Amino acid sequence: MSANIIDGKAFAATVRQKVASKVADLKETHSIIPGLAVVLVGEDPASQVYVRSKGKQTIEVGMNSFEHKLGVDTSEEVLLALIDELNADPSVHGILVQLPLPSHVDESLVTNHIAPEKDVDGFHIANVGLLGTGQQSMVPCTPLGCLLMLRDYHGSLSGKNAVVIGRSNIVGKPMAQLLLNESCTVTIAHSRTKDLADVVRRADIVVAAVGRPEMVPGDWIKPGATVIDVGINRVDAGDSKTKLVGDVDYASCAAAAGAITPVPGGVGPMTIACLLANTVTACCRINNVSGEDFLL
Ligand code: NAD
Repeated sequence: MSANIIDGKAFAATVRQKVASKVADLKETHSIIPGLAVVLVGEDPASQVYVRSKGKQTIEVGMNSFEHKLGVDTSEEVLLALIDELNADPSVHGILVQLPLPSHVDESLVTNHIAPEKDVDGFHIANVGLLGTGQQSMVPCTPLGCLLMLRDYHGSLSGKNAVVIGRSNIVGKPMAQLLLNESCTVTIAHSRTKDLADVVRRADIVVAAVGRPEMVPGDWIKPGATVIDVGINRVDAGDSKTKLVGDVDYASCAAAAGAITPVPGGVGPMTIACLLANTVTACCRINNVSGEDFLL
């Protein structure tokens, strides 16, 4: 069997088109321009790349992008004061504080200082609780991107056995919650799970979010299952070069699966597209404008 490739890059382009057309509609019909503020503390190279890419894509879909770059020594107090300003600014509909933050700053304090309705990362405790109780919330971007691809590929996910490998607050837990909300039977596996191979072999849907290069081999995959690979791992490719690989061994898993996301070009591009979509959703809700279901 050779799996269908779920092309996250192409799918992200269609999400961005939908976002752009909703942004144009908000401008024309309501004179509102959605705005996304991104806060970067310090000079972590990977974070700088992400922030640049977010800013560029925000502008490309017609939204306002506000970038706040703060020095690595910025105090918690100064950071919280900036978030207060952004919370109160009517031109800002989404606020994202790029993680990780320097060690002297309490990440959860900062995350929970963002107004929940502007929390486009969906990390605020209020949004976690709303998602956990099946209520309207802001949904974390990476799991949202995975869900959109799964829904697009399968239609209904009801009754499917889903295994999420990884229990982080950013990916694993919200992913499991979203799948539960879709009426999947969900297992969360993690570093202490016994007989992980057996657990994964029962899954119709496998979401791997571990951060260990190619740890899931093809013989763990039930024939025909759908594999969503969240992992982004940079590994040695010989000749002093590096390459990106996921958490699943792509070749052997693609041989067993019915569908699979590649790395790169799978989940990654969907994450920023969902951030843009979340900003538009937040903008619609804050302004009481209908049509936040523009992605459907
Ligand atoms: P994390 O380190 O916070 O969590 C990893 C999880 O994997 C933990 O819950 C741990 O219990 C589990 N784990 C570790 N070793 C395991 C093992 N041997 N067997 C089973 N489970 C094990 O990581 P994270 O933030 O959730 O990210 C996971 C991966 O996803 C990373 O590669 C990260 O780079 C990637 N990621 C990608 C995107 C994207 O946009 N594509 C976004 C976020 C994270």
